[in-house]
Amino acid sequence: MTSPSTSSPSPHALPQERRVVTAIPGPKSQELAARKQKYVANGVGNVLPIYVKRACGGVVEDVDGNSLIDFGSGIAVTSVGNSAEAVVRRASAQLADFTHTCFMVTPYEGYVEVAEQLAELTPGDHDKKSALFNSGAEAVENAVKIARSYTKRQAVVVFDHGYHGRTNLTMALTSKNMPYKHSFGPFAPEVYRVPVAYPYRWLTGPENCAEEAAAQAIDQISKQVGAENVAAIIIEPLLGEGGFIEPANGFLPRIAEFAKDNGIVFVADEIQSGFCRTGQWFACEDEGVVPDLITTAKGIAGGLPLAAVTGRAEMMDAAHAGGLGGTYGGNPVACAAALGAIETMRELDLNSRAKRIEEVMKPRLHKLAEQYQVIGDVRGRGAMIAIELVKPGTKDPSPEATAAVAKACHENGLLVLTTGTYGNVVRFLPPLVIGEDLLNEGLDILENALASVG
Ligand SMILES: *Cc1c(COP(=O)(O)O)cnc(C)c1O
Repeated sequence: MTSPSTSSPSPHALPQERRVVTAIPGPKSQELAARKQKYVANGVGNVLPIYVKRACGGVVEDVDGNSLIDFGSGIAVTSVGNSAEAVVRRASAQLADFTHTCFMVTPYEGYVEVAEQLAELTPGDHDKKSALFNSGAEAVENAVKIARSYTKRQAVVVFDHGYHGRTNLTMALTSKNMPYKHSFGPFAPEVYRVPVAYPYRWLTGPENCAEEAAAQAIDQISKQVGAENVAAIIIEPLLGEGGFIEPANGFLPRIAEFAKDNGIVFVADEIQSGFCRTGQWFACEDEGVVPDLITTAKGIAGGLPLAAVTGRAEMMDAAHAGGLGGTYGGNPVACAAALGAIETMRELDLNSRAKRIEEVMKPRLHKLAEQYQVIGDVRGRGAMIAIELVKPGTKDPSPEATAAVAKACHENGLLVLTTGTYGNVVRFLPPLVIGEDLLNEGLDILENALASVG
């Protein structure tokens, strides 16, 4: 077996193959799980407790020698693959030069360069500025700070099925109680939730979903909050934790227009959907929506913790000097990794790779949906694809079938994640550099899992 121990491993230093040689999880993973049980807080769960030894390209290798096909990318983070060559090269060089000065104390070029890249890559040709942080939740919180400071208003509007993080303010913004909010209140005030255009579950059917949902959302904002009190409307252009919900066409532009007409800052939370994941740099581009502010994290830095708020210069400049920041925000090693990840996305044209992944996955999933009534809906874009599972013949969510399918996939060497407000969505987020053979093999495993569940 080749070892990725040199300073710049190739993107595929690990054999790109599935290999299941023990039960999943194997004995060494189980030993580690026992140690975890004793020393790590129970609140920190694991989707699949195989302990990782190495990961690269489209596979994750565990301490027992199993190699799993990766359809998760650590939740849409390692889009460029784990330990991607340019990420390792640039982050290693930065590690050797200096690890931290705090950008608020003595600045460095990498931070500025990431801000330049964000200005270039995000939608719209207006003047843009950025501020960097460590996590997605922190980026969303700062987008709210900026919008409040700019508008001198307080209310924040979010949507059903939305997910924005686990800090106090972002828990308030998040719609799902279990596991994100339960027993953790009280939550931050001045947060209002309105309907989103969820075509599969819209009561009058998908045809008028965009119009009706937008009308309801706007009516609720106008009547219950007062548009003139709203600082920001925050939406995921393709909702992640809510179940990979694509708002019906026309919904996003209508909400963005309403925000514009009423002096409300329109924030696109592209933390999960951004950076080539959906086959565009940012998912809102598919409908030509130009957000005022955009939050990014996850895929931005190939696995290192980095997040950003990018937006209209006059809005970004509304907060007073010293009002934004944090000790580690825009850490130099994370910035170097981001520049390596962006370099990889450009060089390998990962937007095309994401579109190709959709071309391979969607027809097979639609075929499976015809075969297995448990699949109620197939949706998503690029390499952000999901199936929603229901009780056959109904639209009643089936979290049981979802858990069973995920378990069968895991046991056979395919790492998949579940999601959704009703816990009934199997989501696929492969690294964009995954080989097509592995992609198809993963789908074979999924097919067998569906067959075994019925
Ligand atoms: C993951 C996620 C967040 C939170 O990011 P963290 O880095 O986990 O804090 C916020 N918004 C969306 C859309 C996400 O998917």
